[in-house]
Amino acid sequence: FQDSDVAKWLEAAAYSLVHKPDQELEQRMDDLIALIGRAQHKDGYLNTYFTVKEKDRRWTDLQEAHELYCAGHMMEAAVAYYEATGKNSLLEIMKRMGDHIYQHFITEKAEGYPGHPEVELALMRMYRATGDKRYQELAAHFINARGVDSDYFKKESDNRGWTVWNMNPDDKEYAQNHLPVREQKEAVGHAVRAVYLYTGMADLAAETDDQSLADACKVLWENITQKRMYITGGIGSTCIGEAFTKDYNLPNDTVYAETCASIGLMFWARRMLEIVPDAKYADIMERALYNGVLSGMALDGKSFFYVNPLEVLPEACHKDERKFHVKPVRQKWFGCACCPPHLARLISSIGSYAFTENEDTLFVHLYMGSNVEKTVNGKTVNVQMESDMPWEGNIKIRVQAENAKMTLALRIPGWCKNYKISGIEDAEQEEKDGYLYLKKVWNREETFCIDFPMEVQMFAASERVREDIGKAAIMRGPVVYCLEEKDNGKNLHELLVDTDMHASVSEGKICDTVVKMVETDGWRLTESGDAEETLYHMYQKPQKQKVRLHYIPYYTWANRGENEMQVWTRVQNP
Ligand code: ZN
Repeated sequence: FQDSDVAKWLEAAAYSLVHKPDQELEQRMDDLIALIGRAQHKDGYLNTYFTVKEKDRRWTDLQEAHELYCAGHMMEAAVAYYEATGKNSLLEIMKRMGDHIYQHFITEKAEGYPGHPEVELALMRMYRATGDKRYQELAAHFINARGVDSDYFKKESDNRGWTVWNMNPDDKEYAQNHLPVREQKEAVGHAVRAVYLYTGMADLAAETDDQSLADACKVLWENITQKRMYITGGIGSTCIGEAFTKDYNLPNDTVYAETCASIGLMFWARRMLEIVPDAKYADIMERALYNGVLSGMALDGKSFFYVNPLEVLPEACHKDERKFHVKPVRQKWFGCACCPPHLARLISSIGSYAFTENEDTLFVHLYMGSNVEKTVNGKTVNVQMESDMPWEGNIKIRVQAENAKMTLALRIPGWCKNYKISGIEDAEQEEKDGYLYLKKVWNREETFCIDFPMEVQMFAASERVREDIGKAAIMRGPVVYCLEEKDNGKNLHELLVDTDMHASVSEGKICDTVVKMVETDGWRLTESGDAEETLYHMYQKPQKQKVRLHYIPYYTWANRGENEMQVWTRVQNP
């Protein structure tokens, strides 16, 4: 699936051209697109693995071989490049590939569906970019076919007699083909595949008003966010199959929480907001962004995590095989390099997650410094936001329009209890599903402020989460905090956080990045007498010493060398 890495790079580069035109970069992309065009077969087929290595085996290993997955990523790149530059070179290439896929699966009625979902959501983008309904039809075909014949991969495997990865075709949950998608109630299997699939489902449901598909998405959403997600927005509890396991099984140290999975969760949340603008989706989008997604990249942007643990003892990662997948420092690159270009395309297109609009309402989901032009109710509206998120919650919004009747819906973040709004007294105000709706005729230039005060907040997990019982995590606004050895010394497991936090917040630097640090009261357990010398000893009341705990934003951990880290800390007198 290396073609997909090139595709993600092209997509990220296309978004970056929108913000920062760059002749040299654009030329490089044009050359690359020409090369891709030359690799395309006359019948539209495009996949370098099969062209170079297995030219007689096209479409015979949908389970393992990522042909549709790579096509999906290249389609996304094609749409992004077309929208950024107006050039349709890559779009034309991918239309031919889309037509080829249509011919194979619809016209010639070939069986099967993708082993790794992705093409579904990409086809929806192709449909929107080209207006060609066949792409939506094809997306619906793959979504509706999935799991109806749940033995498809088994049959395919028996027929082809060859394998790329030696994957087990009987493991139906791994690729979410154990049941038709509308009957799936629990998130199972490979976490990235799952959220790509759900994103495609939500996209199709919103586009076609498919209630049963939307309902399936809502049930799966509740299952993940209420039972199978880390506080960082990380998903996937085990490295075996990079997968979900069961409700409330959220180990902090053997976790998977792939960067790509949290990015996929953001994609899905964005599509759910198109079905129903409920702030619970945007809350998770924000949680994933500032925690489990950003942690995937070093502050200098030069090294990456694939796995995003919530607790690390570096020595254990080096010596305990069960933790070999958890790297205590970010890596320059990976054999499976999905995460770095995925981060690049997410970050370079982050503006598209901040806003959505329908006929008469412009929704603000994420508060970030921005300057956008939107069309609502047939009128052009310019919206500028000044924000110091995620560190401060006071937002200044300037709307420029000419006699535009429009509702501006502002998300009230789940972490904020009492917001204050000022300077917009003439708007009709209504609060619904976590949004403050401001309805009025906007004229010329109007500036107002909304303030979401941030406090240091202590969180507990459900008591059903064995790994977190008796422990607390610290958040401030949308940012999850952690303890690092660098600031607190070795053996973080000996620390206790005081429920009377006496928290203080200060500005500090991690490398060259200015962040808000948090300090709280706490304790360190100390051993004395027998306990110091022996592995087991008669119980004695632990001794403890008062300390201040120094918390840093979770996403900035491991930027100052290899050291211990933990998000969940034991609570004094839980
Ligand atoms: Zn990845």
